Amino acid sequence: MAVRAAVLPAVGSPLEITGIDLPDPGPGQVRVRLAAAGVCHSDLSLSNGTMRVPVPAVLGHEGAGTVVAVGEGVTRVAPGDGVVLNWAPSCGACHACSLGEVWLCANALNGAADVYARTTEGTDLHPGLNVAAFAEETVVKASCVQPVPDGVPLTDAALLGCAVLTGYGAVHHSARVRQGETVAVFGVGGVGLAAVQAARIAGASKIIAVDVSAEKEELARTAGATDYLVASDTTAREIRGLTGKQGVDVAVECAGRAVTIRTAWDSTRRGGRTTVVGIGGKDQQVTFNALEIFHWGRTLSGCVYGDSDPARDLPVLAGHIRDGRLDLGALVTERISLDGIPAAFENMLAGRGGRALVVF
Ligand SMILES: [Zn+2]
Ligand SMILES: [Zn+2]
Repeated sequence: MAVRAAVLPAVGSPLEITGIDLPDPGPGQVRVRLAAAGVCHSDLSLSNGTMRVPVPAVLGHEGAGTVVAVGEGVTRVAPGDGVVLNWAPSCGACHACSLGEVWLCANALNGAADVYARTTEGTDLHPGLNVAAFAEETVVKASCVQPVPDGVPLTDAALLGCAVLTGYGAVHHSARVRQGETVAVFGVGGVGLAAVQAARIAGASKIIAVDVSAEKEELARTAGATDYLVASDTTAREIRGLTGKQGVDVAVECAGRAVTIRTAWDSTRRGGRTTVVGIGGKDQQVTFNALEIFHWGRTLSGCVYGDSDPARDLPVLAGHIRDGRLDLGALVTERISLDGIPAAFENMLAGRGGRALVVF
């Protein structure tokens, strides 16, 4: 039976909401009925070509749902189980995996080239970032699902799949924020809001949220921001002003833009750390002079999927959720249907809102 999906027919084309035919799960595969899927900035980047995957593709990589069927040899989940989709499954065999850095698995996106389904007209479809969550149902490798931890509602659990693992991980695993440190978060979308909450959980003494829009102040403060700045040419100076002229200990950049990365770095103290979570394009060139690199003694690091291992980290996040420290609902500013995804892309382009969540 056909299911509805949001298909990217070609890079730069609008998404088409159409029927697709999914095969029964093959050996090692799982069929999942989606409960919810978040609309992430990376979906927009895939649709406009900033990031590339084979097309036509069903986008969507932040989802959760219920297993409806499993293929031969699948033992880790069974029909009826609630699962979070993991768009970056690790192979367990490459160099990164052997070091435990599963978020850097060399084979994580091999599945993007597979044909996993067809439109009802017979066009081959690729699964975007492996999991094709913008659809009522999907078929994925068993390594792309993690059991939903106890106590986390299935709909909310979708957010764990990208925004929360990424934003929380950027703060806890990449920047390793310590109690009492000061933190600035640039970009108040789904990932940025998760980073703000993570900084609060880490015990940051000051959390400065920065965004191009003045409208996200309440969202940011609800998540735990102590200060809010609308981005401008003077943002780095304002942040130093808020931190006794020092600069923050940690900056988390969630925009992927050269000017924001440079501002984030300029906002940190001598010896401060900047973690870049945002995914920018090749045209975004950031420059530093040799003297300032020496003088400031700062660290600038990239961060993939929050340096997260879903198997290790989801139970930890569930503990924070159960104890009321992490509020997934506070990330969501809009609940939409599949048909609402194009409008959600427009909102992201315009810098409006937090996470839009497709609820099936
Ligand atoms: Zn994402
Ligand atoms: Zn690997």
